[in-house]
Amino acid sequence: MNWNPQLIRTIPECAWPGFMGGDGAARLASLFQLEQSQWLDPETITARQLHQAAGVLRHAAQTIPFYRARFQEAGFDPHAPLTPAHWLHLPILSRADVQLAGPKLLSPSIPKQHGNINWTQTSGSTGQPVRVATTSLVNHFWCAFTLRDHQWSQRDFQGKLAVLRASPNPASPPQPTTSPSWGIATHGLYQTGPSVSLDISANVSDQVAWLKRENPDYLLTYPSNLLALTNHCLHHGITLPNLKDVRAVGEIVTPAMRENCKQAWGVPLIDTYSSQEFGYIALQCHEHGQMHIQSENVLVEILDADDQPCAPGQTGRLVITSLHNFATPLIRYEIGDHATVGPPCACGRGLPVLAEILGRTRNMLVFESGEQRWPNVGMLRFRDIAPVQQCQTIQKSHTQLHVRLVVETPLTHTQEEKLIALIQSSLGFPFEIELEYLPEIPRSKSGKYEVFLCEVS
Ligand SMILES: [Zn+2]
Repeated sequence: MNWNPQLIRTIPECAWPGFMGGDGAARLASLFQLEQSQWLDPETITARQLHQAAGVLRHAAQTIPFYRARFQEAGFDPHAPLTPAHWLHLPILSRADVQLAGPKLLSPSIPKQHGNINWTQTSGSTGQPVRVATTSLVNHFWCAFTLRDHQWSQRDFQGKLAVLRASPNPASPPQPTTSPSWGIATHGLYQTGPSVSLDISANVSDQVAWLKRENPDYLLTYPSNLLALTNHCLHHGITLPNLKDVRAVGEIVTPAMRENCKQAWGVPLIDTYSSQEFGYIALQCHEHGQMHIQSENVLVEILDADDQPCAPGQTGRLVITSLHNFATPLIRYEIGDHATVGPPCACGRGLPVLAEILGRTRNMLVFESGEQRWPNVGMLRFRDIAPVQQCQTIQKSHTQLHVRLVVETPLTHTQEEKLIALIQSSLGFPFEIELEYLPEIPRSKSGKYEVFLCEVS
C-alpha cells in the first residue's frame, strides 16, 4: 500500500521518520498491530481471541455478581482453560437480559488504566433500547478501527468530510456545523481537511442543496437516507464532482443503494457494520467487497437454532463478545441481527467473512408535500418514560402513525400521553398516533427487522 497521510509531529524538528506522543501515538501503535494481525490464519486469530476473552470472563466473574451467578448456574468455570468447545457452554445474553439487569451489569472495579466511563444508549437493530457503559480503552479501539477503515479505503485526509446522521439533541430547524478536522479518530495524529455535518432530520431536498454547496470529498450517512438522496439526485441530475466514496452506517446496505451511488455520483458505497455497544463489528474489504469481521475487537459467533456454530452458507443469529469492555462486559450477547457465514476472502486476510448481514432496515418518513425525511421517533428516550422493551413504527398516512410496542408492564395513561408527545416532537409533526401492544414484534420473512415502515404510496 502506498497510503501515506501526513502525520502530526510532536517534535517539529523530527520530520522523518516523524516522532509523536500521546493518544495519537497509542492509536498508531494499535493500527500497526492491526496491519499485522489481519494476516494471521483463522486458527491463530481464534486462539488469541479466546486468550483475550478469558481475561474478560475472569474479570466479570470476580467483580459482577450477575455474571458470577450466571456462570455458576451454567456450571461454567471461568478459571478453566478456555477452548472453543468450552466457550459454547457460556450462557447467551439477550437484549432483554441487558435491559432488565440495567446497572447490575456494571463492574464496580474497572482497571484504572482503562480510563473514564462513558454511558452509551442504543435502540439496536431491533428497536430494543439498552444502556451500557464503555471506557476510554473501548473508545481507543473504536478509533483504531476507524483508522483501519480509512487505511483500507486509502482515504485522502486532506479532503472534506460531510456527515449526515442523527445528533442526540437536534436543533430545529437543523443547523449545519463545520469543524476544522475529521474528528476524534484522526485527532492529534493526521492532518485532515474540515468536516461538515447536518442533522438527518433535515428534508432530503435540503440535504441535497447543502451537499451541493459543500461539495465534499467523502460522505457518511445511513443507507435509507442515502437511497433517498441518490434517488433525488438522479431525478434532478445533481452530481457531487469531488465525491470519492460514501460510507454507510447503522442500517443494512442493499444492492440498489450501491447501484444508485454509482449511477448518481460515480462512487463506491463502503459498508460498515458497527454498534454503540461494540464499536466496529465488520468492515468492508477494499479488494473484494466482503464484510470482514473485526476479530481483534469482537468475538463474533453465528449460531443456529440449537446454538451451534453455522457453517459457510448458513444463516444464524449473531452473538458477540466485546474483547475490551471491562466496564459493562458483554459476553455472548445476542445483538438481534442475523448473518450468513461467508467463505474466506480471496484477499488472504484471516479475518472471517459475513456474506450477508440481516439487520435493521428503515423506510423514510413521507409528508403530504412529497418531502421525505429520515424518521427519528426518539426511541432512545422511551425508557425514561416507560418500560418499553421493543418498538416498531408504521406510517399509515401523511398524518397517522401506528406504533407497536412490547412492554415489561402495562403503561399508564400518562405514560402513553408522554410517549406520544415525545414521538411527535422527535418527528417534528403532530401525527395522530395509535399505540398497539404485542408480546413480540416479528422480523420480516427475509430476516430483516423493519424499525420504520412506510405504507403511504
Ligand atoms: Zn478481504
